[in-house]
Amino acid sequence: MAAVRAGVSSRILGQSSALGARSMSSWWRSVEPAPKDPILGVTEAFLADPSPDKVNVGVGAYRDDNGKPVVLECVREAEQRIAGNLNMEYLPMGGSVKMVEETLKLAYGEDSKFIKDKRIAAVQALSGTGACRLFADFQKRFRPDSQIYIPVPTWANHHNIWRDAHVPQRTYHYYHPESKGLDFAALMDDVKNAPNGSFFLLHACAHNPTGVDPSEDQWREISYQIKVKGHFPFFDMAYQGFASGDPERDAKSIRIFLEDGHAIGIAQSYAKNMGLYGQRVGCLSVLCEDEKQAIAVKSQLQQLARPMYSNPPVHGALIVSTILGNPDLKSLWLKEVKVMADRIIGMRTALRENLEKLGSPLSWKHITEQIGMFCYSGMTPEQVDRLTKEYHIYMTRNGRISMAGVTTGNVGYLANAINEVTKSS
Ligand code: PMP
Repeated sequence: MAAVRAGVSSRILGQSSALGARSMSSWWRSVEPAPKDPILGVTEAFLADPSPDKVNVGVGAYRDDNGKPVVLECVREAEQRIAGNLNMEYLPMGGSVKMVEETLKLAYGEDSKFIKDKRIAAVQALSGTGACRLFADFQKRFRPDSQIYIPVPTWANHHNIWRDAHVPQRTYHYYHPESKGLDFAALMDDVKNAPNGSFFLLHACAHNPTGVDPSEDQWREISYQIKVKGHFPFFDMAYQGFASGDPERDAKSIRIFLEDGHAIGIAQSYAKNMGLYGQRVGCLSVLCEDEKQAIAVKSQLQQLARPMYSNPPVHGALIVSTILGNPDLKSLWLKEVKVMADRIIGMRTALRENLEKLGSPLSWKHITEQIGMFCYSGMTPEQVDRLTKEYHIYMTRNGRISMAGVTTGNVGYLANAINEVTKSS
């Protein structure tokens, strides 16, 4: 009996392994390798280069003056305070209520009447990327015929996010290559010419990749025109505090739109300004007409999140709520954000001065006029290729320098290399 059973089961096994072998080879035959991410590819190439001189100014993560990643003191302190204190159960679908509350104060203002009137639908999101994606999905679900206007250029992932949410994309003028500043007139024309009621994606501060932000007066004009046209402004604020060193000042664009009575959406991230990159902590908020609408919108945002990840991760949210909920830790954080922003601003000055001292025939004033993590240098892809090949300097081929990777130790070397590859252009 046992022998018969063994014979049957081995036949079945034999069959199923033959079937298995056939299906294993055919399921994914049509899958081609995905194109490499241009930014992550830079880091890979940097790591593989054995040269002792190599410099990575490709990646958008802060480094100290020794080129090392930083964990903020306020974060270390918060982690000690929360260690072992709490359980690790699920957060609600909308995430940490305390974290979201504190995050809204940063964007809308400590005494915001919109917060008091409970007009903001807000949920914890998987950092800035997750907040943008959740909004894009929300836009598609409730405004299925709408499009999104995206600046040229922009953070490359914006295109992926709205593409995967199946929202058609349009672009608007932003960067002016000759002046290496804002193409304000063309931007305003695009706002005017877009069909009434379009969605506009705006970088709240420290525009990535250009480092070019509108002035306060320009923001007022943009806000006015967006209002006239009945567009919906969606702010991606990945760098609050990182631009000027002061989170209040960096929220100025948003405050102008709030004064003007817009309904807005905001994606917030703690990746850069708290150095919580890998913790994936952020927030999506949508300012509504009244509390009833905000409750409905929030419930729909949660509904969108549920089949994707159920609820967001707890640890990063606890770090943020511990810091922002404690006056001492919050003021330590404010100091530390300023140290990071000031170091970057200092490196802008140093890079420009070094280039000028070398007698570069080109103007480099845009290095200090631009703001935030990145400098859009104006170098061509061929010049960048030479930097990499001849000087082991790694960056994206669009000429974007991550100022966070520039240090007192490498700024002279970097300036010399930039001068060598650009002086005959
Ligand atoms: N928006 C912009 C403009 C960014 O530069 C970034 C980070 N590179 C993000 C959003 C999202 O970053 P994260 O998901 O890490 O918060």
